[in-house]
Order: sequence, then C-alpha cells, then structure tokens
Amino acid sequence: MADNENSGLKEMNPFKELAIRSLSQKVLAPRSQRVVLLYHDVSDESSPQYSELYSTTPARYKQQIEWLTRHYRIVSLDEIVSPVFVARGKPLAAVTFDDGFQSVQDTVFPWMFAKGLPFAVFINGLAVAENHLKYSEDYPDLKTTFDERVYLTAPDVRSLANHGIIIGNHCTSHRALPSCSDSDLNLEIVGNRDFLQELIGKSIRHLAIPYGKVRHYNDRVLNVCRSSGHRYIHSSNPMAFNAKDLVNSKFLIPRIGLTNHSVSQLTFLVNRPMFMRIDI
Ligand SMILES: [Zn+2]
Repeated sequence: MADNENSGLKEMNPFKELAIRSLSQKVLAPRSQRVVLLYHDVSDESSPQYSELYSTTPARYKQQIEWLTRHYRIVSLDEIVSPVFVARGKPLAAVTFDDGFQSVQDTVFPWMFAKGLPFAVFINGLAVAENHLKYSEDYPDLKTTFDERVYLTAPDVRSLANHGIIIGNHCTSHRALPSCSDSDLNLEIVGNRDFLQELIGKSIRHLAIPYGKVRHYNDRVLNVCRSSGHRYIHSSNPMAFNAKDLVNSKFLIPRIGLTNHSVSQLTFLVNRPMFMRIDI
C-alpha cells in the first residue's frame, strides 16, 4: 500500500518525489526528538505466523536496529516517556512489540539482550492463554488461528519480565475498543491488566491501543485506560515527540510501525514528523 501511495505521488508531483528522496538520505532529527518503533513479529517467510502485514525478517530487523544504534540512543520505554530523562548526544528511540509473538522470545530477545538493548512487549491475555486473537473484521487478512504455538506462553512472559523487558497491556482479545460495551471494555482493559500484573508480579503502566489509529479510541476508551492506572497510552500514529509533549498527562505516545522497510524508508519515517503533522 505504501508503495502505491509513493508511486502515485511520483506521477502527480515531482516536488514531492524530490522531498521524499531527500528525507530518505540522512537523519535530520534534532537531539530533542524521541521516537518509539512498533514491531510485531520477527520471523522468516517460512514461519507459520509470517505475514507481510506485520512481520519483519530477522536479517532486516537487525539491519534496522544497527542503523538505529548509529543515529539514536536506544533507551527503555520507561526512559523515553520520562520528561526529565536527559538525552546525551543523540536523539532517543525505544523499541516495542505488539501482540506478543513467540518470535520475540526466540529471535528478538537473545540478540537484543546480548547487545544490552532494552525493548517492551504489549501482550494480549487471550493469545497467551489460547494461542489466538480476535482481530476486528476491518482486518480480514490477518491470521487469527494457528496449528502451531506462535504466541508467547505465560512462562515466556514471566521470563521476559524477569530479564527487565517491560510488559505492557494490549487488551485481552485485540477487539476494536470503541465497539465494546462498557462491561466488555472493562474485560478487555482492566481484565488484561489484572492478568498481566498477576502473571509478572509488577504493576502495568503502559497500554497500547489495539490497531492504535484515531478511529480505534475515543474519550470513553481513554477514560477506562487512565482510570485503571495506565500512565502511558500508546497509539500507532507514526509521529515523533519530545520531552515537552510528555508534560501533558493526556498525551498519547505515537509509534512508528515497521515491517521490512529499507534503511532509506526508515530514514524517511523518522524525518517525516519534522515536516508534516500526521494524525491517522
Ligand atoms: Zn496489536
């Protein structure tokens, strides 16, 4: 879809083509910039859960993170959302994974841990308990059931937490929250928070809204998220932010979604927020 959009721009507007090309060559971000990256699955194309919609190959993931460490300082999710955290030298980046795929334990964790790089995982209780999710009908191409185990198990989640990986709430079943009744909203948000807190023995302060676009939350949803103790709520809006944004307690943390993007596409994605406001 992104490729079609870009080729459309090329035909329509040579100036935009030039702008995209120049934003894809060099990081232009000021040191004050903070970005949170959003991944799902890191696996080869032969893996049962592999999907062009959300998977990144291990080789491409490593290339992206190595590029990131040259231009950004990778910090934990708790550090990047702290307005008093002091950045030195480089802009800040944090790495997150949604939906709790087992590849996070098997592929991502060993490589990141060896490099001393922190990350966070947003977990759905249903995937942990039953190895499937209830994706919205708006996303018919997402796989929802698997013969093999593809999601993290309860011991996996506990082990990641014990190694300092931040565990966040991604709601129980991955339904689109605005269509939930009040009692279902409670099951999705508060129920999953309770499940995760019991599982890892730590309080859950971060919540990532399933799908995470503007149409996937509203005041009713956000009120339940906040009143249940989630201090930081993460969207999937592909923007950057800075320490000043975090002073507003209602600020939603934006995240830039990645799959098999090239390094020049990644450069474009971290530069774009400096030049245009996006709210999708
Ligand atoms: Zn998700």
